Amino acid sequence: MEKKQFRTESQKLLDMMINSIYTHKEIFLRELISNASDAIDKLYYRSLTDDSVALTRSDYEIRIDLDREARTITITDNGCGMTDVDLENNLGTIAKSGSYDFKHENESREDVDIIGQFGVGFYSAFMVSDKITVTTRAFGTNRAWIWESEGVDGYTMTEGCRDTAGTTITLHLRADTDEEAYSEYLDTWRIKSLVKKYSDYIRYPIRMDVTTQKLREGVDAASDAADKYESVTTTETLNSMVPLWKKRAQEITDEEYASFYHDKFYDFEAPARTVHFKSEGTATFDAMLFVPAKAPFNYYTKDFEKGLQLYSSGVLIMEKCADLLPDYFSFVRGLVDSADLSLNISRELLQHDHQLKVIAKAIEKKIKNELAKMLESDRAKYEAFWSAFGMQLKFGLYADYGQHKDVLQDLVLFTSSAERKLVTLAEYVSRMKEDQKSIYYACGETLDKIEMLPQCESVTGKGYEVLYLTDDVDEFALKMLMNYSEKAFVNVCAEELDITSEEEKEAVKAENESSEDMLNAMKEALGEAVSAVRFTNTLKSHPVCLTSEGGLSVGMEQVLNRMPGGEEGVKAQIVLEINASHAIADKLKSLYVYDREKLTAYAKILYAQARLIGGMSVENPAELSSLVCDLMI
Ligand code: ADP
Repeated sequence: MEKKQFRTESQKLLDMMINSIYTHKEIFLRELISNASDAIDKLYYRSLTDDSVALTRSDYEIRIDLDREARTITITDNGCGMTDVDLENNLGTIAKSGSYDFKHENESREDVDIIGQFGVGFYSAFMVSDKITVTTRAFGTNRAWIWESEGVDGYTMTEGCRDTAGTTITLHLRADTDEEAYSEYLDTWRIKSLVKKYSDYIRYPIRMDVTTQKLREGVDAASDAADKYESVTTTETLNSMVPLWKKRAQEITDEEYASFYHDKFYDFEAPARTVHFKSEGTATFDAMLFVPAKAPFNYYTKDFEKGLQLYSSGVLIMEKCADLLPDYFSFVRGLVDSADLSLNISRELLQHDHQLKVIAKAIEKKIKNELAKMLESDRAKYEAFWSAFGMQLKFGLYADYGQHKDVLQDLVLFTSSAERKLVTLAEYVSRMKEDQKSIYYACGETLDKIEMLPQCESVTGKGYEVLYLTDDVDEFALKMLMNYSEKAFVNVCAEELDITSEEEKEAVKAENESSEDMLNAMKEALGEAVSAVRFTNTLKSHPVCLTSEGGLSVGMEQVLNRMPGGEEGVKAQIVLEINASHAIADKLKSLYVYDREKLTAYAKILYAQARLIGGMSVENPAELSSLVCDLMI
């Protein structure tokens, strides 16, 4: 019989399929079922306007038949079918070949990549079969055709017979090899699970005869009769057809959502929030999103992979579409189903797909609004959410030079000095005192340590609230944010702290000027450790504290130096501040006159004390210890 040749570009793809080492060969079934469903769609839509289509909605079906002896899988649909010309055009070449970009092949990328990137359609069946037979009859014609191919050699077409319109595709499975057990596709259980995984929401029933062993009627289960069981064959519908997300939210119970979430995303805990919506604006899609109650164990590691499941009209096209979620909402699980996306779109093209970007934007907005609602309506729940994922939102504030501030600034919480409760920035600002200029914060390892900072005491002493920052990212995030509601963020341990009146400022300035030489001598004694020594009148009871100058705080210095591979030896500009009204001030002045050597020792001790008070370690504990001892004896 005359063999027809495949067109060149089809041949390349075919060759790739046949020699494929792609590990997800199972997708062939998804592809064939999608084609069958499309073919039924075509006939169904035609039936809406064409009375000659005798089928009604419930007559349509896709059948799968397994034949273990013959090693075949047969997929049958009663859709529109194909004429001989259609067959030539559709299976002799790649439909829509324009959407396949073969430049990758020239760059000698593995076929694995290409198959992963494309929905490869009909030809994917060659990954598991060495011969494919298609029998089809187009609706409205009375001739049927048989198309058959064993791969690259080409294909044959002969006239066949079929009672009604539709297509039957028979895959002759390859022989098992050491690497691949193709026989697994003859297993009913395997087929059932593949249909569930990829094609559960195909709109037409996918039916298969399933044979099970049942106890014969009237036979006791304990009997040891050889024939107590009999084989019973029933036709099962393998897919649930209507995706949960296509139902109206009002029709779905919380339990249904929870069990769906559990089955699909393997989380044992019910989600903290479920968001189910339909969008019909610039992008048409359904989305079902879940905020997990707890962070998965690998959430804050590089192993965690973000992404939403992506469906195109009920068919799963991507398990984790990362582009649908910004990093700061990476904890969200769920799915998006859009008819606007093509089943065959490649991953790379998808990244640049305008429609996908529009969907991603809409999703981001929705998540933001839902979190805001949760914050407003259920504070306890939001705080639980915050303890699981707050860190990620703070990273989001810091990331990309703070460009996500509009999305995130009203979702972040910090512990405040007011009763040590979590507050939003809006709450903080609404409680600011009349004369308060800035939003104050202080950093440290623990809330207790922060509260003990001398500067903190001064600020809270004035009745101002202070945000206590304990996470490494906190201060960096606030620096990126710069201000909130036009109020600047000010570290209480930084020179910008401005809580004194004009007179007080004048007084301390005079004090510093008159003791300039003494302060310089102390600075000399401390060398590079500090950039200056100054008197201050902001401290209440404490003798000394450290303040940073310039943009880098002491806390940030510590974080940066702790980071593996981070910048080496980052140094904050530190000023040793001495409480001008503390008795130590007079003592220092007199030492400057009578005992310069002792002044040097005092400078070192006070600097060490200031470090300890500020939650830092002492650089030279042995020296400190002997200096103190000298004073004691
Ligand atoms: P795609 O589905 O992306 O178009 P395929 O290679 O899977 O690419 O299929 C090529 C074409 O063959 C389809 O577009 C369709 O026109 C036709 N076709 C495939 N399977 C069937 C079927 N079961 N019934 C009718 N037409 C089909």
